[in-house]
Amino acid sequence: MKRIFSILIIIVYTIISFSAYSASEVNVYSYRQPILIDPFFEEFTKSTGIEVNVLHAKKGLLERLLSEGANTPADLVLTVDISRLKQFVEKDVLTPIESSVLQKNIPSHLRDSNNRWFALSKRARVVVASKERVATGAIERIEDLTNPKWKGKICTRPGSHAYNRSLLASIVAAHGETEAEEWAKGLVANLARKPEGNDRAQAKAIFEGVCDIAIMNTYYYGKMKFNEKNPEQKDWANAITLIFTNQNDRGNHINVAGGGVVKHSKNKDNAIALLEFLTTPKAQALYSSINYEYPVNPIMSLSDELASWGEFKEDKLPIEKLAELAPIAQKIIDRVGW
Ligand code: FE
Repeated sequence: MKRIFSILIIIVYTIISFSAYSASEVNVYSYRQPILIDPFFEEFTKSTGIEVNVLHAKKGLLERLLSEGANTPADLVLTVDISRLKQFVEKDVLTPIESSVLQKNIPSHLRDSNNRWFALSKRARVVVASKERVATGAIERIEDLTNPKWKGKICTRPGSHAYNRSLLASIVAAHGETEAEEWAKGLVANLARKPEGNDRAQAKAIFEGVCDIAIMNTYYYGKMKFNEKNPEQKDWANAITLIFTNQNDRGNHINVAGGGVVKHSKNKDNAIALLEFLTTPKAQALYSSINYEYPVNPIMSLSDELASWGEFKEDKLPIEKLAELAPIAQKIIDRVGW
């Protein structure tokens, strides 16, 4: 499998290398899955005539950019989670972009203050609870998860996963390090089992009665609810309700998927055009319809499906704060054994 993947990488890379210097093209390094991102590129090519070449990978793109240096064929990087966007910034592989379109289409808390990365979609990390075993209104704040009444009732994936680390960073931002550590300790004390699996595995555990409460990104709910390939996941989705937390105070924690223009890009104008396209209503609607993510562009209203999950207030903490506080969050995670 690994070998096939490497060969695929080489093939795609060769295609990119051949076409790297054409003016009507843009080369994208993407951590986002082809099934998710390719429809966007088709739309972009249709409306601009600019061809998009993509290198999809699960890891190693930053290392590749660093080793390619000024010779890189890459123009644009797309990834999920602010911590990964921040890594690209820290290694200085992205360039600042002045674009009035991006300024207008993306609220300021969802982009880098130095314009090196831009969020293109939002993802809400919520509490999910058993429809049958947790009463409506029993949990309203993320802080409620430390209540001793939930002892042995909560499942999560490991704390050091970027999603949980960002969530904890948002709690550090809200309450400070000491209180955030108390929260993490309280959460760990309430766990039904050692942290394991991904987000969907927690919904499965609720379905199976292993626990009653979990933490999950909402798009997984949509992916399970409509999963024809693995229809058993429909049952997992059906077993849970989504709880948008902190609706009467700071709002529910969100993270982002986004991108930035590569410093050594040879097709910078095309890369900016593609980034801008991804913030237009047409592309923004695709984020919801394909992957159940939330649009960043404030003129968008929610798709019917997302609206049915509930309108919610989001935590407007500048997303870059999450990356800044991630090292503190990680230390807490190590100390409490999450
Ligand atoms: Fe995910």
